[in-house]
Amino acid sequence: MKCRACGQKAVVNMRQHKLALCKDHFLEWIPEQTERFIEKYEMFTRSDKILVGVSGGKDSLSLWDILHRLGYMADGLYICLGIDEGIGYSSESQRLAEKFAVERNLKLHVVDIQKEYGSTVPEFSSKSHRGRLKSCSVCGLVKRHVMNRVTRDLGYDVILTGHNLDDEVAVLFGNTLSWAGEYLLRQGPVLPGVPGLARKAKPLFRIYEREMLAYALLSGIEYIYDECPYSVGSTSIYYKQLLNRLENDRPGAKQSFYLSFLEARKSGLFAERELIQAELHSCTSCGQPTSAQGLCSFCRMVAT
Ligand code: SF4
Ligand SMILES: [Zn+2]
Ligand SMILES: [Zn+2]
Repeated sequence: MKCRACGQKAVVNMRQHKLALCKDHFLEWIPEQTERFIEKYEMFTRSDKILVGVSGGKDSLSLWDILHRLGYMADGLYICLGIDEGIGYSSESQRLAEKFAVERNLKLHVVDIQKEYGSTVPEFSSKSHRGRLKSCSVCGLVKRHVMNRVTRDLGYDVILTGHNLDDEVAVLFGNTLSWAGEYLLRQGPVLPGVPGLARKAKPLFRIYEREMLAYALLSGIEYIYDECPYSVGSTSIYYKQLLNRLENDRPGAKQSFYLSFLEARKSGLFAERELIQAELHSCTSCGQPTSAQGLCSFCRMVAT
């Protein structure tokens, strides 16, 4: 197979785009596509102060790398979750995120959950009414809270995450199976900021996971290969496998599922839910918006 741009041997074949590219052209194409989507979906501009949530994994480090190549001013945020039993997942991912930042002279903020809030993610989980909150629920709560806090307190305009198309499609698939209206309303490439809640964007949301993997490998980014131990057997991995089978038979199916969802929502499929969503209060402890009166779920968890 030959590169469409130069005729040299192609290293990546993207069947959904009917496009094969050599290493050099692929490493140019991914940042070009990312920039196109940043502009198309009005995620942020070059004058914005940008924060990238980095986990040490291939997607978030690649996103930071792409923004750096494109000339955006973006700092990183690493949240140490304290998931260290077994393979030392948190320590190793922190080491790689810090190494990445030092090598490129980029600024990385590090928030250690145990030091700041007294417990690691697994500890919060086991303390929560005998493990009522699973580690992934705690982790999601912690990450949302900290990203929002740091973005707001340090005056960033937007927080970015490295979610790729496969991540987004797996979440959409799960939300659609249960017709979770509230979640479907909120899912999208950009979440506009509201008072107390930072603007969020996902610049890689249209790029397939296998392309992000190719980008990380071909650009020599050192990232953590191991998955978080809590992801083993997760529903989202199962959905990804199912969706990959669909994609294999019908190239482009994942992308079209997601883009059709965005179109349907734009044309008013969830319009009624938008009216209901306005009911938010300020948490009496941290000030972040919450649907409950009094403390938000994060502050309730820390207080127990
Ligand atoms: S698998 Fe669960 S615990 Fe691990 S990083 Fe992801 S959300 Fe957090
Ligand atoms: Zn080429
Ligand atoms: Zn709170």
